[in-house]
Amino acid sequence: MSTQKFQAVRGMNDILPDESDAWAFLEATLRRWLAQYGYREVRSPILEPTGLFVRSIGEVTDIVEKEMYTFVDSLNGESLTLRPEATASCVRLAVQHNLLYAGPQRLWYMGPMFRHERPQKGRYRQFHQCGAEALGFEGPDADAELILMTARLWDLLGLKEVSLEINSIGSLECRQQHRRRLVDYFERHAAMLDEDSKRRLHANPLRILDSKNPALADLIDGAPRLTDALDDASAAHFESLQALLKSAGLGYRINPRLVRGLDYYNATVFEWVTPLLGAQSTLCGGGRYDGLVEQLGGKPTPACGFAMGLERLLAVLQESGARPIPEQGPDVYVVHQGEAAQEAAFLAADALRAAGFAAVLHCGGGSFKSQLKRADASRAAHAVILGEDEVRAGQVSLKPLRGQGAQQTLSLEQAIQFLKT
Ligand code: ATP
Ligand code: MG
Repeated sequence: MSTQKFQAVRGMNDILPDESDAWAFLEATLRRWLAQYGYREVRSPILEPTGLFVRSIGEVTDIVEKEMYTFVDSLNGESLTLRPEATASCVRLAVQHNLLYAGPQRLWYMGPMFRHERPQKGRYRQFHQCGAEALGFEGPDADAELILMTARLWDLLGLKEVSLEINSIGSLECRQQHRRRLVDYFERHAAMLDEDSKRRLHANPLRILDSKNPALADLIDGAPRLTDALDDASAAHFESLQALLKSAGLGYRINPRLVRGLDYYNATVFEWVTPLLGAQSTLCGGGRYDGLVEQLGGKPTPACGFAMGLERLLAVLQESGARPIPEQGPDVYVVHQGEAAQEAAFLAADALRAAGFAAVLHCGGGSFKSQLKRADASRAAHAVILGEDEVRAGQVSLKPLRGQGAQQTLSLEQAIQFLKT
């Protein structure tokens, strides 16, 4: 028989048992936190029609130009894309199911996203995002709520090394004026542009500001600023947002270069950044997208939201030594020796589970010593021990594996009562 060993697709991670506790802890924290603000979960398919992302994210963006996993379904010729983000999916879902007829909606999602990027720390081809979308809220109180709730999450997680950057990119009209000024400016300095930027100069000059090429930093720094030419409505919106953040005592920095890499944003944009992850500094990004619902076939509906990367969040939690992530072990590990004890152990484990405990039954024999080593490695709080003596007496020995306390021998019912208290 020929054998073959396979590897996961490059840039796509397996999450192993030792890592999944941290994931489960983070996911549970996120669920509780989102529920506290009245957000409700949606789950959309991982595959969507390609056009959904091209239309909403924008043709001349990193994601659509080079990062999407797009393929033709050979069975029916449809062009499909593995979702690179989920705001478009959320809006598609809300429009398709007429959710907005019932009034504004606070929605959240969590799950894998796919982008064909160069894998490095904090940047993968399959990664996970948790995002919230507030559909039907004009703000700026909705913008402020989203920003303040993320600040609360960092508190819940004990994360301190994060800071907030905000900006307003204005209305569509004011962006078009700014765009003309940008094209003028970059045309005057065309010799200094890199290939990517030259290509974008006429298609989407705003994207040049988003460039990560350090050679362009000074040129970008000197470019005309949109903040200096904001339309009145956006300027007023931005002022009120800042007043709300100030009254909540939340510190922020206005970053006039913050534009975000997707086309659907307008007015408020924000990012939470950290110095702990090198170049992958953005933990969470969001903003307003007042035109997207209408663009995707719904009634004109103001909206805003954010998305955060869970791999980056977990990496930062580890790096910063923030609150330790609680380890999840079973309540009880049941060890046994001898044929009679094996049957008793089987029944004891079952009774423990019926009483609501997590009980792992030792498998594979071995001395008590080696079994107790396994029990310890399982991170169980207690071992239940069944040997010939216990079986003869109709009892079990209960041994604490964590912290203080003496081993005691008692009936299984008494052991269960003891564990309950
Ligand atoms: P970056 O500038 O780092 O590429 P982005 O602007 O493309 O980020 P968004 O599309 O705003 O990112 O996605 C929101 C969040 O999702 C990011 O702030 C980041 O935490 C996470 N994220 C984005 N792309 C990746 C990736 N390839 N791998 C891991 N996390 C990612
Ligand atoms: Mg990116």
